[in-house]
Amino acid sequence: MFRSFLGGIHPHDGKELAKDKPIEVMPAPAEVVVPMSQHIGAPCAPCVKVGDLVKRGELIGTSPAFMHADIHAPVSGKVIRIEERPHSGRISCQAVVIENDGEDSWADGLPLARDWQAMTNEEILTAIQSAGIVGMGGATFPAHIKLKPAKPVDILILNGAECEPYLTADYRLMLEMPAKIVEGAQILARVLGVKRSVIGIEDNKPEAAAAMKKACEGTEIEVAALKTKYPQGAEKMLIKVIADREVPMGGLPMDVGAVVQNVGTVAAIDDAVVRGLPLTERIMTVSGDAVAEPKNLCVRIGTKYSDAIAFCGGFKEEPDKLLAGGPMMGMAQFTEEVPVMKGSSGILALTRKLTEHGPEMNCIRCGRCVKACPMGLVPSMLSILSQRQDFTACRDSYGLMNCVECGCCTYICPAKRNIVQYIRNAKGFVRAEMAKAKAKAEQAKKEGAKA
Ligand code: SF4
Ligand code: SF4
Repeated sequence: MFRSFLGGIHPHDGKELAKDKPIEVMPAPAEVVVPMSQHIGAPCAPCVKVGDLVKRGELIGTSPAFMHADIHAPVSGKVIRIEERPHSGRISCQAVVIENDGEDSWADGLPLARDWQAMTNEEILTAIQSAGIVGMGGATFPAHIKLKPAKPVDILILNGAECEPYLTADYRLMLEMPAKIVEGAQILARVLGVKRSVIGIEDNKPEAAAAMKKACEGTEIEVAALKTKYPQGAEKMLIKVIADREVPMGGLPMDVGAVVQNVGTVAAIDDAVVRGLPLTERIMTVSGDAVAEPKNLCVRIGTKYSDAIAFCGGFKEEPDKLLAGGPMMGMAQFTEEVPVMKGSSGILALTRKLTEHGPEMNCIRCGRCVKACPMGLVPSMLSILSQRQDFTACRDSYGLMNCVECGCCTYICPAKRNIVQYIRNAKGFVRAEMAKAKAKAEQAKKEGAKA
């Protein structure tokens, strides 16, 4: 029996729209737009130029920075532009635009079948790094870095919770390709040297849990049915309920001996190691009450939202809100021209019926947000202090940086306060101040060394 965590909410999950739709392979579009920033860390710089002919899987973006993930051509064709394009996580970003030649020819030597059991851990990590794998649940942390923890770990947790409403891509992946996830998990367990691997699945997905249990037979991997409660899929919550360990404030899973990987990431790692495939496509959900035919798609990275939505029959009603990801943690988009990236778990288009809510009011001190916060914070105070621009108090007295931006507080607030937005503003300010202080300290150190 697995424990639960404090707080959390039970929003309408909207998963009925797409959960029974098998993964459909969307044909590669005529043009892909590949952003050079698809991961946490330094953006890549293009290593191709306009006019170059590229093959699928060919390296098109890289960086000398430690924290980055390489980027590969999702189609074969011609580089027709390198320019700023809309980006789902920021306003815009440099992107390589490739005109698809329709040949879908792989770069030399790809795919590359390999026996992972005969590979060394170093070879496996190199294969993962070369494939440009990042956390595909949306975190986009480069996988090869996460798999070299600086502290000893003893448990691998596979995140199959998919607690975000409307999204069903991980559910379909577990149902349709469980063997790939199991093999990927075995590879990771060996690289990390852990004896215990657990895949956590919310108990509202019994079919996926059954498929994974069957695929795990004869292996060391456990399948854990977790209580359905948002945000069950947040790393800290998973570690708490599965391993009964609490990640300290500002800490990482490795601080408590754990590594967490999303099931989509694990499947991509299996493709990278066993088939030598760079990350050029992903499974995602296109859903919402504005979409004519919600689907789970296997799409090429760089596919524009407009193309993916058209493949799902377009809009049946005018959407009021277009989101990258789900309704709780997703980012609102101002254009359908944003492209699918490695961390794009879903596209959600909602009509006004679902997005309409009254005007924001002052906090009435009802305490609901405090009860709902899974991190034990006081969201009402964070929002009020952020509004007053007292960011220092947010950080020093109210644990600002411990907020996982799950959105439970905003969802539950009867005063319709956009608490997460206030918190994001405060965090942005604090991060900028920290970066300034670091730069100042480095400068002083350099000057000290010269003197
Ligand atoms: S304060 Fe942060 S962690 Fe707590 S409910 Fe709000 S968004 Fe989630
Ligand atoms: S839920 Fe909203 S109104 Fe209630 S205490 Fe929190 S911020 Fe204030």
